[in-house]
Amino acid sequence: MQYLPFARPTLDEETIAGVAEVLRSGWITTGPKVQEFESALSEYLGGRTVRTFTSATGALEVALQACGIGPGDEVVVPAMTFAASANVVARVGARPVFVDVELSTRNIDPALIERAITPRTRAIMPVHFAGLAVDMERVYGIAARHKLRVIEDAAHAIGTRWNGRRIGSFGDLVSFSFHPNKNMTTIEGGALSLPSDAELQTVELQRFHGLVRDVEGNADVLLPGGKYNLSDVSARIGLSQLSQLEGFNDKRRQLVARYFEQLRTDPPCLLPARGDEGHSWHIFAPLLPLDRVDLTRGQFIEAMHERGIGVGVHYPALHLFTSYRKLGYKERDFPNAERIGRETVTLPLFPAMQLSDVDRVCDAVSDVLRAAKKAHR
Ligand SMILES: *Cc1c(COP(=O)(O)O)cnc(C)c1O
Repeated sequence: MQYLPFARPTLDEETIAGVAEVLRSGWITTGPKVQEFESALSEYLGGRTVRTFTSATGALEVALQACGIGPGDEVVVPAMTFAASANVVARVGARPVFVDVELSTRNIDPALIERAITPRTRAIMPVHFAGLAVDMERVYGIAARHKLRVIEDAAHAIGTRWNGRRIGSFGDLVSFSFHPNKNMTTIEGGALSLPSDAELQTVELQRFHGLVRDVEGNADVLLPGGKYNLSDVSARIGLSQLSQLEGFNDKRRQLVARYFEQLRTDPPCLLPARGDEGHSWHIFAPLLPLDRVDLTRGQFIEAMHERGIGVGVHYPALHLFTSYRKLGYKERDFPNAERIGRETVTLPLFPAMQLSDVDRVCDAVSDVLRAAKKAHR
């Protein structure tokens, strides 16, 4: 039987032909396709100003810079997210201040945000985990009360809707990722949706060397900018992907509905919050009942691999990595993030999967857990 990875991008022949055309055109780096892609993203996000980047990590870093965040500042970040969310804060010289997440939604717990806010706090960085929108009313309410910026890490959430509105079509700065495992891809890439054109000049300078040219073509460098411009080859892939995104996400929702029907194991896994129709299901990641089986997560992953099924881990709790322990974080600081970090497994989910693949995964999970179930004492 064919190996089932936990994620796989869908790239059709039209996309491949489009890429070949760009490659033959003589212009392969940032050019007309990037402009077209940025316009298409802007249209998708209700007309907001959108700029693309070589990664979401780059987009987030530039978003922080565009908010003037740097040394001495603090940014509130959930303890359960990919490392990039906090790394970018540290990279601009600021301090990530972690907050625990809710066990079911995996999203930052709004009830815990305010006690993490200090006079140095400049921004909150909510992460729409797995494509489930955070409670925007509460997060933006807190931000307004404390006069903070919000930089949404929407790496999982292109196509996610909150109360019917697309993430990135409203709010403050919103960053998306187009890494191959995400809901749409440009190979590597990201985008930033901006609330106004006030941040645009800084964003463009930070994205490309701080470089400007006057009408006569004379160059000047206004600040020591980075180098994060997307290529036309990537943008061409993004154009095809964006046109298919709603279909991709519908398929993800169908597959996850099947998981909710079929994943009935003994002992039971703890399934993530179902959310509503706006959930874009970047990943499907239940928690394993590790205290009820004679099995480590590593052994579970190995047993699934032997059955031809790829399983991922998204993510170990961020505050327990070496780089963040150095800020003083330790075990038991954030119990939900730590439990998720220990028990989470990402099961296969991508648009080209069939419902029968979901059944195959569920049967395998069931078998592996049943065989390892601890005897009743
Ligand atoms: C993937 C991801 C990123 C980084 O995206 P890149 O495009 O790979 O830089 C940031 N935050 C989260 C939550 C992610 O999952």
